[in-house]
Amino acid sequence: MIIFKKISDIQAHLALQTKKIGFVPTLGALHKGHMSLINKAKEDGALVVCSIFVNPTQFNDKADFEKYPITTDTDITMLVEAGCDILFLPSVDEIYPGGSENVKSYAFGYLDTILEGAKRPGHFKGVGQVVSRLLDIVQPNYLYLGQKDYQQCMVLNKLTQLMGITNKTQVIICPTVREEDGLAMSSRNSRLTETQRQIAVHIYQCLISIQSKQTTDSFQTVQKECIDLLSEKGFVPEYVSLADASDLTLLDEYDSSLPMVALIAAKLGDVRLIDNMRLN
Ligand code: AMP
Repeated sequence: MIIFKKISDIQAHLALQTKKIGFVPTLGALHKGHMSLINKAKEDGALVVCSIFVNPTQFNDKADFEKYPITTDTDITMLVEAGCDILFLPSVDEIYPGGSENVKSYAFGYLDTILEGAKRPGHFKGVGQVVSRLLDIVQPNYLYLGQKDYQQCMVLNKLTQLMGITNKTQVIICPTVREEDGLAMSSRNSRLTETQRQIAVHIYQCLISIQSKQTTDSFQTVQKECIDLLSEKGFVPEYVSLADASDLTLLDEYDSSLPMVALIAAKLGDVRLIDNMRLN
């Protein structure tokens, strides 16, 4: 694996490549979820480029940014073992020379007003800034994203449309990788205490309950049960929502004529966890 820190160096290298480029942008603290994206890119026969960049502009909560786990040495070992070809590891100055204020940003409209957009103001603006920058640099044929961040997948799909690169860059969404008990793998899980880690699985169990009761109960009832259960277990639930999986229009009730997705965000101590599940 070749590691590049400078834009000019990675671009000079990529310009000489003939294979299709598969790109996996990450914040690092890699786990099996990230590795599933690298593996999919390899399976697709792409030259695999991974980036690790803890983007300050997407953290609306300063403490979350400061506490974000950084495990670069282990990340590099994992990427080498997975057969990743290139790691792009830029500094903040390299990505935002002259500061982040002047970087072009994109408007995601409705998608930025609901769920993560509503709870984390400015988050998707920051995600759009950094990913557009990285897409300009890497110019991939395939962009691999995890369903774990469902709304982010929709935002980035829209980003490729707004950037006018849908003919060049195809978005490929990979399934959420889970721990044995069902907890979605996340870099933030490493910040949970052992007790919190045991409790964290209830988010997944709520999603299963929302899924399994879709033909027998009203969503309003199941939503309340989930909020009550999460609160009782010690979470501060931010949302337990149901949406049209195609455009994230929020739904008050189950509607089996639509593709549906359930989405949950809840805080356990100061660790914010999100997860989602397609229902049908
Ligand atoms: P992050 O480093 O959290 O920004 O994640 C980088 C990419 O990995 C994003 O596309 C995430 O959706 C994806 N990802 C994170 N966790 C998982 C997981 N458990 N399963 C599948 N993909 C994931």
